[in-house]
Amino acid sequence: MTKQEVLKRYFGYDGFRPGQELLVDGILQGRDTFGIMPTGAGKSLCYQIPGLLLPGITLVISPLISLMKDQVAALNQAGVHAAYLNSSLSAGQFQTALRNMVRGQYKIVYVAPERLLTEQFLWASHQIEISQLCVDEAHCISQWGQDFRPSYLKIPEFVGQLDVRPVISAFTATATKEVREDILALLDLQDPVTLTTGFDRKNLKFIVQRPADKMKALLAYVGEHRDECGIVYCLTRKGVEEVCERLVKEGYDATRYHAGLGDAERMQNQEAFIYDQKQIMVATNAFGMGIDKSNVRYVCHYNMPKTMENYYQEAGRAGRDGLPSECILFYGGQDVVTNQFLIDRMEPPEDADEETGEQIKEREREKLKRMTFYCMTNECLRAYILRYFGEYGDNFCGNCSNCLTQFEDRDVSETARNLIGCIASGSRSYGMTTIIDTVHKSKSAKILRMGMDRNPFYGSCEAVPVYQLRQIMNHLVLHGYLRLTDDEYPVLYLEEAARRVAEGEPVVMKVAKEIPKEKKEKKDTKKGSAAAGMADIDRGLFEKLRELRLEIARREKVPPYLIFSDKTLVNMCVMMPKNKEEMLQVSGVGEVKYSKYGPQFLEVIGCDSYV
Ligand code: ADP
Ligand code: MG
Repeated sequence: MTKQEVLKRYFGYDGFRPGQELLVDGILQGRDTFGIMPTGAGKSLCYQIPGLLLPGITLVISPLISLMKDQVAALNQAGVHAAYLNSSLSAGQFQTALRNMVRGQYKIVYVAPERLLTEQFLWASHQIEISQLCVDEAHCISQWGQDFRPSYLKIPEFVGQLDVRPVISAFTATATKEVREDILALLDLQDPVTLTTGFDRKNLKFIVQRPADKMKALLAYVGEHRDECGIVYCLTRKGVEEVCERLVKEGYDATRYHAGLGDAERMQNQEAFIYDQKQIMVATNAFGMGIDKSNVRYVCHYNMPKTMENYYQEAGRAGRDGLPSECILFYGGQDVVTNQFLIDRMEPPEDADEETGEQIKEREREKLKRMTFYCMTNECLRAYILRYFGEYGDNFCGNCSNCLTQFEDRDVSETARNLIGCIASGSRSYGMTTIIDTVHKSKSAKILRMGMDRNPFYGSCEAVPVYQLRQIMNHLVLHGYLRLTDDEYPVLYLEEAARRVAEGEPVVMKVAKEIPKEKKEKKDTKKGSAAAGMADIDRGLFEKLRELRLEIARREKVPPYLIFSDKTLVNMCVMMPKNKEEMLQVSGVGEVKYSKYGPQFLEVIGCDSYV
C-alpha cells in the first residue's frame, strides 16, 4: 500500500494537509523528524501512517492516559490494531497487552514514559522490531514548558538500551525557541526533517467583549449557540460554581470541572462532556489537557486568563475538526486584579532561591500585561496573537471582532492633554482611577482627602463619560505615552511622548463606530459563525445524523466524534451520498468505518432526500 492508500482506506481522507506529507516521507525514509504544528493540524496521522507502512512496531510516547485512550480508540475505530500500556491497566491486562505486542498483534503501541525503563518493558522491547519511536507532546521534555514531565527524560536512556536505534519522530504544538532547542538536544534528534507550520488557526474566530454584566453576556451568547458544544473557562473555582449553577438553572446541560472536586466526580463530568451527554463544560484551567474532543464549537473565557500562552492553548480547544468555531473572551477590570493576586501568591519552584522566585513573578506580570493589551487593542486580534508567538503577517484577518467592527478615528487630544496635565501636576504618582476621578470632578471622600480637588485639572473632563476616559487612558498606556508600574497598586508615569502631547502633538484613537440601534438588532439576530459555516446545509438532516451518531456511540461506548467528526457529518449533508461508492468519497469515511456504519447513515440520508 502507498501512503495515499493508507490515508484513504483507514482514515477516509483524500489528501494530506499542508506539512503532513513532508513529515510522513521523512519518517518513511528513515530520517528523524520534528513537527511543530498547531493543535488540530493533524499531527497524529504524520506518525500513524508511517507506523502502518514500516515493517516493525511504532511506539508512541504520550503524557496522559486520556490522550492514549482516545488515540487508540480512534485507531481501533479505523480498523488499526493498536493498544496502550499505562497505569490504567491491571497487572494482568498489562501482561496480556505486552504478550500481544511481542506476538506482533499491534502495529502501533502507546506507552507511558514511566514504563519505558521497567524490566518487563525492556525485555519485551528486545523481542520485537521497533521501526519508529514517536514522542508526542514532545514539549513535555523541557523544563521551560508549562507541562514539564520528568519521566520524559527517560526516553533517551531507553533508546540507548535498544539494540538498534529506531527512527525518532517528535511532535508538539507549543514550541518557543527554548523548548525547541531542548527537544532537539535531549532527544538527540539527528539531522531531523523539521517542519513548523504557522500557528494560525483559520477556522477560529476571535472575539473580545467588555460587557458591563458578564452573566448577561454569557447567557445571550450560549442562547445563540444552543445546539452546540462549548467550554466556559473561569479563573476561580468559585466562578465555576456560580456560572455552572446559573446555566443549569436556565435549562442548559452544563457540567463543571475544577481541582476542588473529587477525582471520581471530575472524571465523570469530563466523560459526560466528551460523550456529548453534557453540552457545556464550565471549568478552571485544570480542564483540557489531554482533551481531543473535536466538536467543541466555542470556547468562552468568562475571565481573562493569566498569559497569552494560556489563552491560546485553551481557546485552541475549539474547532479541532476544522469547522468554523469561536473563541470569545469577556474582559473585566477585576480579572487583572485577580490575576495579580494569583501571581503574588505563586509558590516559587522547588530549589529556587528568593531572587529567582521574584524574577519568575516579574516575568508573569509582564505576560499579564501583554494579555491585558490583547483585551484592549483595536487592531486585528489574530495578528496580535500571532505576533506574540513570533509570526508576522497581515494586520487584517476579517474574522475577529476587531476586523469586523467599523472603527473611526477620533481626535482625543484635548482629553489626553488634560489627563497628562493632571498626572504632571500631582505631587506624587497616582493610579488610573484617581486620575480619572480627578478630571471627572469626583467628590468622593478619597479624592477630597488626597486634595485632588486642588489639582489644576480637577473637573477638566467633567463632560466626558468615565468609560471613555478609561479607554483614552488605556490608549495612552498601550501606545507608550504613559507607563503603568507592575506593583500591587500600579501607578502612572509620563513617558517622553506625553511631553510632546502636552506641547500640542495630536492624539488620534481608533474607536468603534456607534451602530444605530435598529441596525444593531438586525445584526444580532444572525447566528454565530459556527452555525454560519453550516448555513448552506440542511440543518434538520445534520441533526438526524448527529442523533444516529450518538446512538451508535452509546452502544459502542466511545465518544461520538470518534465515530465520525462533525466535519464528516457536514460533508455528508453537502454531498448527499446515495450508495457505497459515493459514501466513500466523503472525507472521513474509510473502508472500515464504512463497513461498520456506512449503511445506517446512507439510510438516514436516503429517507431524508425523499421527503
Ligand atoms: P493534533 O494532534 O495536531 O492536534 P490531530 O492529529 O488530533 O491533531 O488531528 C485533528 C483532526 O484533524 C482529527 O479529527 C483528524 O482526523 C483530522 N485530520 C488529520 N489529517 C487530516 C487530513 N489530511 N484530512 C482531513 N482531516 C484530517
Ligand atoms: Mg495530538
